[in-house]
Amino acid sequence: MANQKEIRTRFAPSPTGDLHVGNIRTALFDWAYARHTGGKLIFRIEDTDRERVTDEYIARAIDTLRWLGLNWDEGPEVGGPYGPYLQSQRLDIYTEWASTFLKNGDAYNCYCSTEELEARREAQREANQAPGYDGKCRTLTSEEISKYQAEGRKPVIRMRMPDGETRFTDLIRGEVVFEHKYVPDFVLMRADGSPLYTLAVAVDDVLMKVTHVLRGEDLLSSTPRQIRVYQAMGVAPADFPEFAHLPFVMGTDNAKLSKRNGEVSIAWYREEGFLPEAICNYLALLGWSPGDDRENITMDELVQLFTIERVNSSPARFDMKKLEAINGDKIRALELDDFLNRALPFLKSAGVIKGDDEEVALVRRALPIIQERIVRMKEVVPMLSFLFVDSVKFDEESGAKVAESDSQRVITASLTALEGLGNWNHQEIEVALRAALIDGLGLKPRNAFGPVRIAITGSHISPPLFESMELLGRERCLTRLKSAVS
Ligand code: GLU
Repeated sequence: MANQKEIRTRFAPSPTGDLHVGNIRTALFDWAYARHTGGKLIFRIEDTDRERVTDEYIARAIDTLRWLGLNWDEGPEVGGPYGPYLQSQRLDIYTEWASTFLKNGDAYNCYCSTEELEARREAQREANQAPGYDGKCRTLTSEEISKYQAEGRKPVIRMRMPDGETRFTDLIRGEVVFEHKYVPDFVLMRADGSPLYTLAVAVDDVLMKVTHVLRGEDLLSSTPRQIRVYQAMGVAPADFPEFAHLPFVMGTDNAKLSKRNGEVSIAWYREEGFLPEAICNYLALLGWSPGDDRENITMDELVQLFTIERVNSSPARFDMKKLEAINGDKIRALELDDFLNRALPFLKSAGVIKGDDEEVALVRRALPIIQERIVRMKEVVPMLSFLFVDSVKFDEESGAKVAESDSQRVITASLTALEGLGNWNHQEIEVALRAALIDGLGLKPRNAFGPVRIAITGSHISPPLFESMELLGRERCLTRLKSAVS
C-alpha cells in the first residue's frame, strides 16, 4: 500500500495569473504533509495551455512560494529524477501514452465536430438527459473512418469509460462513488495533438510516483477520469495515489472565494504588507486544526502537527479581520532589525526614502513608536513620510482645521512654549505642551494636540505626537509650526 512507500506529494498549479489564497493553502498543506511524513514535495507546473500560462506567471509563482518560505524537493528549477517538471516539456510523453491507449483499445479516435457535439448535447438537455458524449465514435467502421478522413476531419483521442462506477476513499471525505453514466467518454488529446489536463495530470502523477494528491475540492469530479487513465496505464489499484480533496475557501459572504468577494491574489497581500509568516499561519488554520483552538502557529509546529485527519471536510471561511489580527501580532513580535529590513522596501518603493545611511538610521529610530500601531507593513509609508519631507502638505480637511482660529491659538501657544525648551526630547516636549495648552489655555487633550499633530505631521493620524516631534527635531518642528500660523 501507498503508506509503506515514501510519501510523495505534489503541488501542481496552472499559473494563469498570480497564485491566490486557495492555491497557497493547497501548497502549504502539500508541503506540511510532505515535511511531516519525511516524504518529498514535488512542484510541477501544469502549463499545457501556454496561451494562458506565461513564463512571467510561472516565475512569479515560484517567487511567491519561496517568499512564503516553502521549499520543494523536485521541481522546475531544482530538478529531480522524474523531470522535466513543466508539462509543456513533456508533450511527447502524453502523445505516446495516448497512442498506447488507442492501440490497446482503451481510447478511440473521435471525429465528431464541435457543432455536432453541441447539437447532440442540446438534444440531451431537451430530453432531460445528463449532457455528455454519447459514444457515437466508439464503434466506427473502417468505411466511416475513411469517410471522415476524406472530409478532412482531424480526430480527437477519447478515453473509453466502461460501464460501472469508480469508488475510492478520499482521505478527507471518505468513500466517494461516481457512477459512470455521469462520467462520459472524455477527450485526452485535442485534434491539434495537444493534451488535456486529465491526461497530463494522471500520467505525471504516475510517472512522478506521487503517492498522495492533496488538492482543491473543485477537482474532485475529475478524479474518476484520472483513475481511468491510471488503469489504462496498467497501474495496479494498490499503487494508485491516494486522494485528499481540501474544502473550498469561502469568502465572508459565503460564496466561493473569488475576485468579487475579496482580494485573492497573494501578490496583493504582499504589496499590502502581510508578512509571509502571518499568511502561512492564517492559511494553515483555514480548514485544518491541530486539535485545539490556538490562533498562532509556526511553520515548525505546523510540520510537527499536520495530519490529513485533522483537515475539516466542510468549507472554510476566509476572514480578513482574523488575518489582520495575526499580521499585527507578527509585526509586534519582530526584532527591530528584522522590522527595519522588512519596512525599508515599502518606504523605498513609495519614494519616501532613497535608502542612505542617515535615512535608514532615522527609520530605525522611528519604527518602535509605530510597531504597536500598524496591522499592515504598508502603513509605514503614511506613518513615517512626515519625517522625510521638507514641509507637510495639508489635505482639504486638515488645512481647514489648521486655519480655524482655535487651532491658530493652539499652534501659536505651542510655538512660544517650545522655542525656549532646553532639551528636545519627548518627555520635555510633552511637559511643555501640556503646561501651555491644557493648563494654560484650559483645553482638553484632543483639542490641544490635534492641531499640533496636523501642523507637524500633516495628518490627524500619526505616530505618537511627542515622540514624532523628538524624531523630527527642534528646527523642523518649529519651522512647521511657524508655517502653520497664517
Ligand atoms: N493544475 C491544476 C490547477 O491548477 C491542479 C491539478 C491537480 O492538483 O490535480 O487547477
